[in-house]
Amino acid sequence: MRRLDREQVRQFQQRLLRWYARHGRDLPWRRTRDPYRILVSEIMLQQTQVERVIGYYERFLRRYPTIATLAASSEPQVREAWDGLGYYARARNLHRTARQVTAEHDGVLPDDLDQMRRLPGIGRYTAGAVLSFAFGKDAAILDTNAARVLRRVFGVRARGTKARLHGRLWELAEQVTPAGRADRFNQAIMDLGATVCRARKPECPRCPVRAVCRSAPETVARIS
Ligand code: SF4
Repeated sequence: MRRLDREQVRQFQQRLLRWYARHGRDLPWRRTRDPYRILVSEIMLQQTQVERVIGYYERFLRRYPTIATLAASSEPQVREAWDGLGYYARARNLHRTARQVTAEHDGVLPDDLDQMRRLPGIGRYTAGAVLSFAFGKDAAILDTNAARVLRRVFGVRARGTKARLHGRLWELAEQVTPAGRADRFNQAIMDLGATVCRARKPECPRCPVRAVCRSAPETVARIS
């Protein structure tokens, strides 16, 4: 990958974090540091819109307020609590994770990337999200929104296979995630992608990182 411009990275981090402090979304799972609650939200958010998840998240946690209560439940009961949210494999994996954590980790989600990724249904993104949001670890994330923002800001072109591009974007995410502030940075980049740097019609004129973005209209005009 092309060498990163350190000043661009620094400005990107600062501008994004400042914007997030004022415009970040207030979501129920952002009001807690409980790893279990954060995990439930992240699993529900896979393939599902934020607005749709909120009600399910609150109902599910009223029924299963702790990982122990979920582990003690039966699969049909968990499926019933998940009913309507779809993609039931997520519920099955969450239930299996609760049982595995109870059996192997004394009921406490591990704060280690490798151990976390050995749990059912937890990939690199979900592990990074729980580690940064719940444990304050310097773990990067890459979801669709974050990937789009990174590609545009740092001008990453699609060369080679999809897997290769994905690998380059993960590498970039790790390079630009600031030490000690990964939790807010990760939330900020996802919010920017969801609300400003959208897939269609990005709102560049009101974007906080416009001045350092390689895809901003003024930058593109300068280069071409
Ligand atoms: Fe996205 Fe435009 Fe902002 Fe660049 S300036 S990050 S393309 S919204």
